[in-house]
Amino acid sequence: MPLSSPRDSTIAVVGDGFGSLIVFATAIYLGFRPEDITVFGTSSSPVGTYFGFASNLGQTVLRSESESHFLPADWPTFAELDAWSRRSLAPLARSVRRRYNPGVPDILTQAQVVAEALGWDDSRMPCRVGWLQRAEGTTPHFVLYDEEANVVGRAKHVMLALGHGPLSFPPVLARAREDPALADRIVQAYEPKVYVPGGRYIVVGAGIASLNEWVNVLDAGGKAISLLRGPAPDEQDLNTPRCLFEALGIDAFQQLTFDERIAFLGKILKGTSPRRRSWEATIEDARREGRFDELMGEIVRVEPGPEGLRVHVASGYGPDPDPLDVTGVVCGTGFVRSVLVLPLIRRLVDFYALPVEHGALALASNCGVPGLDSEGSRLCVMGLMANNVIPHGDTIAGLKYIGRRFVGDCADVEGVTRSLTSRARMQIYLASRAATAIRGARREKQVA
Ligand SMILES: Cc1cc2nc3c(=O)[nH]c(=O)nc-3n(C[C@H](O)[C@H](O)[C@H](O)COP(=O)(O)OP(=O)(O)OC[C@H]3O[C@@H](n4cnc5c(N)ncnc54)[C@H](O)[C@@H]3O)c2cc1C
Repeated sequence: MPLSSPRDSTIAVVGDGFGSLIVFATAIYLGFRPEDITVFGTSSSPVGTYFGFASNLGQTVLRSESESHFLPADWPTFAELDAWSRRSLAPLARSVRRRYNPGVPDILTQAQVVAEALGWDDSRMPCRVGWLQRAEGTTPHFVLYDEEANVVGRAKHVMLALGHGPLSFPPVLARAREDPALADRIVQAYEPKVYVPGGRYIVVGAGIASLNEWVNVLDAGGKAISLLRGPAPDEQDLNTPRCLFEALGIDAFQQLTFDERIAFLGKILKGTSPRRRSWEATIEDARREGRFDELMGEIVRVEPGPEGLRVHVASGYGPDPDPLDVTGVVCGTGFVRSVLVLPLIRRLVDFYALPVEHGALALASNCGVPGLDSEGSRLCVMGLMANNVIPHGDTIAGLKYIGRRFVGDCADVEGVTRSLTSRARMQIYLASRAATAIRGARREKQVA
């Protein structure tokens, strides 16, 4: 049962997604009690938001590998857990070759087990936070308010785990979506959609989401036209080069100036797509059958057409192609990346004059919010908002990195500890409950 009245806690997490579960589980592991932590958000499950996007995309296995999971410590890895759970060596064999990706049902099952076993929902205040105020004095803390300006709690340390902003569309398509005659036929990869057999679809972009949609269209018996603004991006699993997932890479990244970091991220995050054997085969077959085409250019106009839409494309690489008659357009263009689209952040930026550069909060290297974060009362961010400090901040591994640092700092300040044996017992208990539950989860095919 979620909470029904405001409560004071040592740690508050604003946001109810993956990040909140990682902070919550890490805090219990390090010795905090559930009543020391409050999670603010309206979802009754920490996987709800991710699951919505992933199922619309048709994601079956994670892009990340064995280390990305929700147990507070890293051991056992997910491949070990899977092997133990299903009595199979196959996950281990794949993992040593870096060819193991946890199945989405498995990882969601594990997250639910951790959340239930630790009582995540019992520490959740079911509201969205609209505002938080710094309160100085003998014990500096933050006062949190909901979107109707009611006080919903106070906390000494706050983690902002707000997730992504709204979905992003190229401006011409965003405008076209305002026309009821066109709106239903222009969707985002992360939105619900149905492809009709024999339908013809333009897929904008060449990142992981677009690649997923090429295959979804082709699997449904449709034709896909991949539309790229420029030449295809480098092959890349996950969103950032693997070296940046290691501590050394993060250190090197943090040596760059803020402008250099933003420029670097702009380069490496600009649509990266993994190399997947089964996807390649699907696309190769479709290409031979004349069901997959590639086009370079940008959509400049959309109007109703005989098949649903008539789309005009301007090419930066030669003469413009003839208008395309298609059933629909799907955009793998991700989320609006500016933090200013998040109402809570926008208000904090306006009120406290927080530094924002190129749409990103200029965070300290420990993900603290400058001016509001202090050693004795921390205010940090995680997820996409922390990408300019921790390049893989918006992955499970990145959330863990940030969450551990934050909770570790809180534990030091509060003098909270938990013995190694007690931690190990907790980890083994969670791992064995997760292994039992995973046995009953649908097993997804590995695609790497
Ligand atoms: C389709 C897809 C596939 C992915 N695949 C992978 C993968 O394979 N491997 C990997 O490591 N990562 C993957 N990721 C990234 C991963 O999902 C994110 O890193 C993770 O969900 C971010 O966690 P979060 O808590 O920051 O945000 P979320 O999980 O999005 O949760 C944020 C929550 O906070 C709520 N919220 C926002 N504002 C407020 C407020 N003011 N008050 C209260 N609540 C608020 C939101 O409604 C939302 O429910 C994927 C992401 C997507 C979208």
